[in-house]
Amino acid sequence: MVVVIDKNATKQEIENIIEILHKNGFDVHRSTGVNQTVLGAIGVHPDFDTNTIRVLPGVAQVYRITEQYKLASRSFKRENTIINIADNITFGGKDVVIIAGPCSVENEEQMFKVAESVSSAGAVMLRGGAYKPRTSPYAFQGLGEEGLKIMRNTCDIFHLKMITEVMDISQIETILKYTDILQVGARNMQNFTLLRELGKIDKPVLLKRGISATTEELLMSAEYILSGGNKGVILCERGIRTFEKSTRNTMDLSAIPVIQQKSHLPIIADPSHAVGLRDKIIPMARAAIAAGADGLIVEVHPDPNNALSDGGQSLFPEQFNQLMQEIKIIVHAIGRDICKPAIQKKVQSI
Ligand code: PEP
Ligand code: MN
Repeated sequence: MVVVIDKNATKQEIENIIEILHKNGFDVHRSTGVNQTVLGAIGVHPDFDTNTIRVLPGVAQVYRITEQYKLASRSFKRENTIINIADNITFGGKDVVIIAGPCSVENEEQMFKVAESVSSAGAVMLRGGAYKPRTSPYAFQGLGEEGLKIMRNTCDIFHLKMITEVMDISQIETILKYTDILQVGARNMQNFTLLRELGKIDKPVLLKRGISATTEELLMSAEYILSGGNKGVILCERGIRTFEKSTRNTMDLSAIPVIQQKSHLPIIADPSHAVGLRDKIIPMARAAIAAGADGLIVEVHPDPNNALSDGGQSLFPEQFNQLMQEIKIIVHAIGRDICKPAIQKKVQSI
């Protein structure tokens, strides 16, 4: 149930409404927008008489949310959610945020090389896995905490923000020490115990769509994180499995406008895992931006042919540079901007 608060309601009236909702067994999530305060009352009470709340002083409107996801829905929050990562980096606003980097953190030299090339091309965040979900248990599983250290150091040197994957509850505490955003991979989209734990942290989470998940299921998973109190959820379309075999997955671009209608959460696109073929990444990156994605996450490697994971879908640095040039044209054509690197303060020499 959504309770829209009257513009002139007093603090005391709002507190009274919240108290009555609590007494009736609802959890209350408050959203204070520019024009309006809204209370999301979460609880399964099909017979609850909404007039109990409608008549209270300070209430403008009450309506039921019919979707199974509540906090993630546009019915609960009309304006886009804007997630701030740094002064210059926000997801969900006018800017389109570009994240690039290798599939896995392999060593310091690889990370320095990739960070240098992607930051000079205009990326503002570095991606890279230290804990890798691999289909085969014999494939490279990632460097663990050593990889996180290398990545944090690289990000600090090259003024990039960091995103890395969390696969299990036991890794959360360690990863939180290093990263700016935690990524939940496609294989873990419905790891509900992990999602619940991520609801308790105060860093944003990038939630990737599962390989066989519907957009509704993706939003239900986001709801797990939101209902724990973490409002920083960014969604990611990364391709789904279909009968088509010519690409690794099928990139469901229509999911972007579909989700933007259903939800206020930002959504970015991962063309790398969606198509899995290096020569198809740039066209699909362009298409995702044109479809309205709030950002891209792209795999780039200084030596893709010798990468320890996903080399075949990783761009050469020159290709990433080309991608950036091409998407800038589209970003501007649709009235948006590319998120720019932070202006570095020059060290004054005396
Ligand atoms: C990745 O980002 O390297 C990854 C494993 O992605 P996904 O979970 O989408 O397969
Ligand atoms: Mn990968």
